[in-house]
Amino acid sequence: MPEHVVRLPNGITMPTLGQGTWFMGESSSAKKEEIAALQHGIDLGMTLIDTAEMYASGGAEKVTGEAIAGRRDKIFLVSKVLPGNASRKGTVAALERSLQRLKTDYLDLYLLHWRGSYPLSETFEAMEQLVDAGKIRAYGVSNFDLDDMEEAAQYDNGNICVNQVLYNLASRGIEWDLLPWQKKRNIPVMAYSPLYQTRLLKSSGLKRVAEKLSITPAQLALAWLLHQGTVPIPKSSSLRRVEENRKAWDITLDQSVLDELDAIFPPPDHKMPLDVL
Ligand code: NDP
Repeated sequence: MPEHVVRLPNGITMPTLGQGTWFMGESSSAKKEEIAALQHGIDLGMTLIDTAEMYASGGAEKVTGEAIAGRRDKIFLVSKVLPGNASRKGTVAALERSLQRLKTDYLDLYLLHWRGSYPLSETFEAMEQLVDAGKIRAYGVSNFDLDDMEEAAQYDNGNICVNQVLYNLASRGIEWDLLPWQKKRNIPVMAYSPLYQTRLLKSSGLKRVAEKLSITPAQLALAWLLHQGTVPIPKSSSLRRVEENRKAWDITLDQSVLDELDAIFPPPDHKMPLDVL
């Protein structure tokens, strides 16, 4: 298998570091910069782009659509259906709207953004239908804790390919049970808010360790998530920070660094409720 990809349970491969898009598409004045940042990331190999119908009410998908125009074949495109749309028919209709905004005819991965009131069996039936129709290559979930994953496993025929959850050095609760459960089943964790929306970068401990390694706190936070076998999807609208984040792929953390990080950001010693934003 080529470097920097992970194989999903259905056999397709996904890059291990991607780009988020939350808060993109909110203002027309920022659009040019956002598109340039996404395209720069793509050129540097960060071809996984994570978006959602929710972000800027479709605005982020439109920005993504412009960024990937002419290079769709290189992209691993992820979007998400809102729980309120996740009925059998609603999921199919929401996907069609997302595809129009993204100016493409398929997604690589379609996620249920979080659990709502529609039965999982209905949502997954729709997802299966979309896979069969060639409109999505894989499907998964987001913000699912272990009990949700166990319940989902009753309805997905082993086809859930990803669970996207909040995971970063300052929020390690999933290491108690969810992460090992998913690893055992080869269902990758996609780590959202990997920089805790910059809050993590203010940590003096993180800054100290990063400085010793001559890397930035963001690179250390992302390299640690890669070391954990998860798929971080940092969002940046800046060319410089996109470049900085890409370099996380080239960083190897040795045991002494991992121990130091454990001392600053202790792993969980009991079950914790899934952290969400
Ligand atoms: P992140 O942890 O990725 O942080 C984004 C913030 O960090 C932005 O303000 C960005 O600013 C800044 N930033 C990025 N790189 C650097 C850097 N190298 N140094 C300093 N600052 C940096 O937060 P997000 O919440 O955006 O999470 C990432 C993605 O995960 C989202 O965009 C979205 O796609 C997904 N997500 C999914 C959720 C879900 O429920 N499934 C929930 C939340 C997020 P700037 O742009 O100016 O560089």
